[in-house]
Amino acid sequence: MTLPHAKVETPVFMPVGTVASVKAVPQHLLEELGARIILGNTYHLYLRPGHELIRRMGGLHRFMSWNRAILTDSGGFQVFSLNELRKVTEDGVQFRSHLDGGAHFFSPEHSMDVQIALGSDIAMAFDECTEYPADYGRARTSLDLTLRWAERSKRHFEAHKHERPWNQVTDHRAQGSDISPDAMPSLFGIVQGGMYKDLRRESAERLVEMDFPGYAIGGLAVGEPREVTREMIARTLEWLPKDKPRYVMGVGYPDEIEEYAKMGVDMMDCVLPTRAGRHGLVFARDADGNVVRMNIKRKEYAEDAGPIDASCGCMVCARYSRAYLRHLFVAGEPLGLTLNSLHNLHFYLATMERVRLELETAS
Ligand SMILES: [Zn+2]
Repeated sequence: MTLPHAKVETPVFMPVGTVASVKAVPQHLLEELGARIILGNTYHLYLRPGHELIRRMGGLHRFMSWNRAILTDSGGFQVFSLNELRKVTEDGVQFRSHLDGGAHFFSPEHSMDVQIALGSDIAMAFDECTEYPADYGRARTSLDLTLRWAERSKRHFEAHKHERPWNQVTDHRAQGSDISPDAMPSLFGIVQGGMYKDLRRESAERLVEMDFPGYAIGGLAVGEPREVTREMIARTLEWLPKDKPRYVMGVGYPDEIEEYAKMGVDMMDCVLPTRAGRHGLVFARDADGNVVRMNIKRKEYAEDAGPIDASCGCMVCARYSRAYLRHLFVAGEPLGLTLNSLHNLHFYLATMERVRLELETAS
């Protein structure tokens, strides 16, 4: 993908930078890990520090000093998952801030305004993430609403995308001065339809008619069994064009991202590598190459001088022992969270790099 801030090879894993930070990992180390694109959460950034503040600071790239690509979600997923008192109407969603209880309203148009102010390379259409389980009627109603919102999202985005904050800051610290003045952000559509193949197909076909430059498969990893997730991805991929990026949101474990990438998924994001790292869970491979999950705080590592994973090429495994990482975690030292997260992110990024090489060799 050629995006305004970076060229990105696919399939790609995108680390999640919820509130303009990939938790516990500074930007220069993300660069060193080889991350080309990260994700920002519109809902969180809208509430704090606010999208207009970020616009005044030159956009999210400049604000957080990340000059590679950024994808923002639409805010929909958090509005639906963090707010039990939300009220959905044709116009949009009324919800209360999880920070202070204040009343807010998100519509497709507002979500586009926020994402444009943030200055993301890829924005997402505002959708209703259908809950699981949902019966057929409910999934259909929700899907129809998402399609009407996709149309409104696209119309508003096309009319206002030139208002992105890049190239509009002229002082000496301006970043992105190498970006073409014509470069514009892109808007992706999101397939919904619950766990019903025919609804997934209809959702995909109607979005393709609207002609988005990329498509996400949403509403998965919401509590359904893993074989259902795989089945929904496989069926939905059949109805999405192969020459446009196809993005599965919010997955998954290392073996899942590898499997989905080989099925034809181009983009994935997940909080798992950093969240697991902060809980002392690190990923490694056994002698057969299978993924194993290690709990670094276990006593058996107390005097283990070896790295997390001898076959891992990351900056953490090159330098630190399991014994030291265990000590940091047990002592509650923040450095432990950073090092675990760095290793896990490398594990994910390296997995995708290997899949890319395999796909290249095979083609
Ligand atoms: Zn490592």
